[in-house]
Amino acid sequence: MEQLKQLLRQIDGKGYKAYKNIKGRYQFPGFTLNIDHVQGDPFAAPSRVSVSVPMQQATFSESLWKSADDNPIRRIALEDYLARAVKQVIQKTIKGRRGSGCSGLIAIETSGQQILIRNAIIVTAQYVEARIVMGLPADGRRAAGVQAQQMFFDELPVIVDAALHSEKLPANELLTHIETAQDQGDLRDQLKQHKLVAFIANGSLLPRSSGINDAPLKSDAVTFQSPPTLQHTITLPNAGEISGMGISEGVTVIVGGGFHGKSTLLHTLERGPYNHIPGDGREKVVSHDSAVKVRAEDGRAISNVNISPFIDRLPFGRDTQQFSTENASGSTSQAANIIEALEYEAELLLIDEDTSATNFMIRDERMQALVSQDKEPITPLVYRIRELYEKQGVSSVIVMGGSGDYFDIADTVIMMDAYQPKDVTADAKALARDLTPQQNGRIDNLPPFQQISTRVPGEKTLDPSRKNRDIKIDAKDINTLFYGEHRIDLSQVEQLIDIGQTRCIGLMIHYYATHYAHSTPSLAEGLKQLMTEAIRNNPDIFSPYKVGNLAMPRKHEIAAAINRIREGNWTG
Ligand code: ADP
Ligand code: MG
Repeated sequence: MEQLKQLLRQIDGKGYKAYKNIKGRYQFPGFTLNIDHVQGDPFAAPSRVSVSVPMQQATFSESLWKSADDNPIRRIALEDYLARAVKQVIQKTIKGRRGSGCSGLIAIETSGQQILIRNAIIVTAQYVEARIVMGLPADGRRAAGVQAQQMFFDELPVIVDAALHSEKLPANELLTHIETAQDQGDLRDQLKQHKLVAFIANGSLLPRSSGINDAPLKSDAVTFQSPPTLQHTITLPNAGEISGMGISEGVTVIVGGGFHGKSTLLHTLERGPYNHIPGDGREKVVSHDSAVKVRAEDGRAISNVNISPFIDRLPFGRDTQQFSTENASGSTSQAANIIEALEYEAELLLIDEDTSATNFMIRDERMQALVSQDKEPITPLVYRIRELYEKQGVSSVIVMGGSGDYFDIADTVIMMDAYQPKDVTADAKALARDLTPQQNGRIDNLPPFQQISTRVPGEKTLDPSRKNRDIKIDAKDINTLFYGEHRIDLSQVEQLIDIGQTRCIGLMIHYYATHYAHSTPSLAEGLKQLMTEAIRNNPDIFSPYKVGNLAMPRKHEIAAAINRIREGNWTG
């Protein structure tokens, strides 16, 4: 510590590059400081440091964060809580930016309303480590060593003391954080035995405060109450018995007037694979962890996807068993999104009329009379969705307020009425019986839905190198991943929720290419193996540097990114 103090004194007023000398390891009272990366100038990405507190001093007991069955969920929740605690102390006590560029900044990466596996905080039996970025202060382009002393010797120890020691944190709040996460994991694990694909506890608060703010809606929010016929009671390890609406396996259709809360319910289910923080309103809402939102995404590239169950007989006899395009239409993109979701073993599809291609969803009787079957390449989803469940066990939840065509093939019809669900299955079925056989979910001579074939991306597709330059893997923002020469557009991949996931996806694609691509028969199989390894570790294994800015994505979002690489050149 004295050595660092001295170094910073010597550096003061010198050229900024002099900071490079402080890289290294320093012993402070009660913690070790590692300066892992020093920025080249005040405007570059801030420097990376980590602090490590021995567990004897941090004293988070193993009974708090370890589970008997090796399930890491309690530890992940503790790590999540500590990152938020560090952030809070920074906001409360740190002076913040001072001088040019990012001078004076101290920051840690945290999640929003969800609890993700991150690498900003690492908890082990031996220590608690926090990875922080610091903007080493400058006066113009000169190193402000004396101010840096203030950051390292006044501010950093305050953060470590207040956020990384169990006796300084509110014990009840911390325990609730951990137990809430564990309950959600447990609830999700219990879905199968209750033959459910999703569960929404009574009293949950689904709406968000705005279209761009994921926090719960504060005023005039109607809390969720299950209709009696759909109510289930489930016992959780910490909360005990809870009741709420179960969405059963099969086909569920959500109907209701405009602005009555249909899409809000579906959005909630989209986030259901993630655990939520206490007070979020969705912390007792879960859906199957392989739930995939499927939408229309015109303009996306498609490479060798068999969309023929939905689309065949295109003009000019274009092949739809190995369909490729640089510019998909609404219906072809939605078809490809479904097939790809199935390829990576989604067991629940989530579909909203608001983000669907109408001609992909339905075709009414009058249109069938006008445009004969042999002139229409599209087999609408309404004729396939039941078969998908019966033959392949894939359930679906479909929001459809604008057409009754799905009544006949639905197992359950839920009406959202002024933000409250009602079970209207019987009423909907009574109406459905009057329909013609064609609308009964079958078109004559429809070939059966075949097993989805798996595919292999071309070697060039997964290569992050660039012509005459270094490898590039970088997230510009949550929706934009640069991978080698590719710019991958993820703006329509709605279950991606954190830029840390986008970064991690880039690194995982590269890791996949170097560790799995040659030894696995398909991307689907390879990603499965990759995720097993990923979840056993943390995002560190994918990064060549010690960074704290990664968050674990799901398999489905990694696959989505790879599938959106243009000029994909897939085989299979
Ligand atoms: P729909 O898809 O049925 O047209 P939305 O789900 O988009 O309706 O919801 C319409 C509006 O109502 C949104 O602004 C949403 O935030 C709000 N909303 C949804 N659920 C609730 C609720 N439970 N309480 C209060 N407002 C809600
Ligand atoms: Mg809607």
